[in-house]
Amino acid sequence: MLKRSGIPPYPQFYELLYTYATGVNPTLNNRINSIFRAGDSPSLSLAEALYNEFLKSDVNDRISNVSERMHARIEAVHDAIDTAMTTANSYSGSLQAASGDLGREITAEAMKQLAERLLSETRRMQDTNQALEIQLEASRDDIASLQRDLDDVRRESMLDPLTKIANRKSFDEGLATAIAEASKGSSPLCLLLLDIDHFKNFNDTYGHQTGDQVLRLVAMTLKSNIKGKDLAARYGGEEFVAILPSTDIEGAMIAAENIRKAIQAKELLKRSTNEKLGRITASFGVAAFRPSDTGATLIERADRCLYAAKHAGRNRVISEIDLAAIQAA
Ligand code: GH3
Ligand code: MG
Ligand code: MG
Repeated sequence: MLKRSGIPPYPQFYELLYTYATGVNPTLNNRINSIFRAGDSPSLSLAEALYNEFLKSDVNDRISNVSERMHARIEAVHDAIDTAMTTANSYSGSLQAASGDLGREITAEAMKQLAERLLSETRRMQDTNQALEIQLEASRDDIASLQRDLDDVRRESMLDPLTKIANRKSFDEGLATAIAEASKGSSPLCLLLLDIDHFKNFNDTYGHQTGDQVLRLVAMTLKSNIKGKDLAARYGGEEFVAILPSTDIEGAMIAAENIRKAIQAKELLKRSTNEKLGRITASFGVAAFRPSDTGATLIERADRCLYAAKHAGRNRVISEIDLAAIQAA
C-alpha cells in the first residue's frame, strides 16, 4: 500500500498501515477506507496527518490523560460513597426515630404508617447501595484499563521517541544497576560510547529528516550487535552508549569494532528517490569499570577515549588501553 501510494517506507507509515491491518482502531480503519473509497490515493501529507492524529503520542500527553481519568474516577467513587453515607445516616436516623415511636403506646394506624415509612426508607437505602455497587463495578474495570495504560506509559517513558531504544533516563538507571552489580563481585563491566562522524555535515547536506533516519539506523545497528544483558541507549543528539556487563575490555573492544564495521557497511539510500547518500561512520570510546568509579567517572573516561578517536581521524575504536599507549608515546 505504501508503494502504491508513493509514500516512503518510514517506520511511522509502517506503523500506520500495521495498525490498519490489525484493525484494532476502527476509527482509523474507517477513515482510511473512506479515502480509498473516494478513489483518492493517500498522499504523504495525509499519511503524516493520520499518523499524528491516531498514533503519534507524546508520553507527557498520555501521562496527563491517564492522570485526568484517574482523577475523574476517584471523584466519581467519592461522590458515590458520600451519597451512600448520607443515605445510611438518614436511614439510621429514621430507625432511631422509629424505635422511639415504638417505645410509646402506638395505634394500629400509626404502626402501619411507621412500617410504610421504614419500608420506603429501606428501599431508598437499597437503591443507593445498588448505585454504589454499580459505580464500584465500573471503577474496577476502569482502573484495570488505567493500569494497563500506565504500564504502557511507563514503558514508553524509558524509550527515546525517535529511535525507540532506551533513553538517557533508562541508561542512567541501567548504569547505576550495572555498577552496583560489578562492585559486588569480580564480574567486569565496560562502557562503550559512540558518536557519529561529521553528522552535522550530513544533516546540512541531506536535511534533518534524513538525518533522523540515519539515527534510527545507527540505533538499530548498535542494538542488533549487542547481546542479552547489554543495554543500548541514545545518550544525546547523535551519541549512543552501550553498557556491557560481564564483559572485559578486550571483549568490549571487539564488540565496538563489530558495531563500527556494521555501521560503515551500510550504504545509505534515500528511499523516496533512491538517491545514494554514501556511508556514515562513527567513532568509539571504550572504558572499563574500576572499583573506585561512579557512573560519572566511567562515562568521563569513555568520553576521553572517544575524543581521542575523533582526534586520531575518526571511524575507529579507542579504548583505555589504547589511550594509555598513546599518552605514553
Ligand atoms: P564529529 O565527527 O566531530 O562528531 O562531528 P559532528 O558534526 O558529528 O559533531 P557535532 O557535535 O558538531 O554535531 C552534531 C550534530 O548532530 C549536530 C546536529 O546537526 C546533529 N544532531 C543532533 N541531534 C540530532 C537529531 O535528533 N536529529 C538530527 N537529524 N540531527 C541531530
Ligand atoms: Mg557529538
Ligand atoms: Mg558527531
